[in-house]
Amino acid sequence: MSGVPEPQLEAQAQPRPQIVYIAGYGRSGSTVLDIVLGNHPEVFGAGELNMFLPDLADDGSCSCGQPYDQCDEWKPVLGELRRTYLNLTDTSFVADVYRSESTSGLLASPPRRRADDRRAGNLWRRFYPLLAESTGARIIVDSSKTARFSSRRLRRLAKDASLDVKVIHLTRDPRAVAFSEQRRGNNDRLESGGGGSAFGGLLRPLVGWMVANLAVDAHRLRLADVPVLHIRYEDLASEPGTAITKISGFLDIDPQPLTDRIVSDAGFDPGHGVRGNRLRRGSADSSEEPPAIRLRYDAAWASGLDRPLRLVSLVSYPLARRYGYDVLRR
Ligand SMILES: [Zn+2]
Repeated sequence: MSGVPEPQLEAQAQPRPQIVYIAGYGRSGSTVLDIVLGNHPEVFGAGELNMFLPDLADDGSCSCGQPYDQCDEWKPVLGELRRTYLNLTDTSFVADVYRSESTSGLLASPPRRRADDRRAGNLWRRFYPLLAESTGARIIVDSSKTARFSSRRLRRLAKDASLDVKVIHLTRDPRAVAFSEQRRGNNDRLESGGGGSAFGGLLRPLVGWMVANLAVDAHRLRLADVPVLHIRYEDLASEPGTAITKISGFLDIDPQPLTDRIVSDAGFDPGHGVRGNRLRRGSADSSEEPPAIRLRYDAAWASGLDRPLRLVSLVSYPLARRYGYDVLRR
């Protein structure tokens, strides 16, 4: 145990928000979807909330560039949380919450796991109503996904925190995901002057893609009362109006504020999220605000579909087929 006493939670006066959890693997367009939905007047796109405490402990900032306790959206949430949790950014508390949501936490002893899960459940049960109150949103988007750092978070929110959760299971062609990750890996290797194998660089994201998407199926079995909508990133990017209308029906919101932005090509405001890729944060060396986001289908990976990628992607064949991707086809 962390040795820190559990805070006594006050009775909650805030209404219960609807949580929309974006599940799946990284590099699948979750930041884009978070941003798009966050442009609806009833929705706040909160970003990768599994990284909120680590980011806060690390003096990170909101995507608007302000430290969290200076951003108008986050400041009231932090003020309230810090009154309840004096240890909010203590290393041991951050580690307890992380362990309760990540795959690695499965290695902890059962009593420790129960204590971690209860601690995380209490925190998030308090957190989301505060965020809804501060932002004025009825719906909070959490794009933490279900990769190894957050594979068990959905259960913490739906079960331990008893929150009202709907899941959007976002998938992207595993070859596009592996290509994107390999390209990033190549850049990192070039910068560090190191080498690396093409097969190894591709296998890791493909296995990660399978595990993260299978985690959604595992949650479906264990959380039968949590509604799940499957959306393919390719459909969102190539026919955004149709995809947004389908998602709006699932969330019971009017699609028009979002579809109007597509029709007028106004773009989507990156908002005030936790982490997310450079779409949300602009370039790291620029002090300028990140530009409005537009949905565009990026098919660059298809031209980079070389022999290693074609061969290694076969491991994902059965699961990819279930989501409507034919990795045998060029
Ligand atoms: Zn902000």
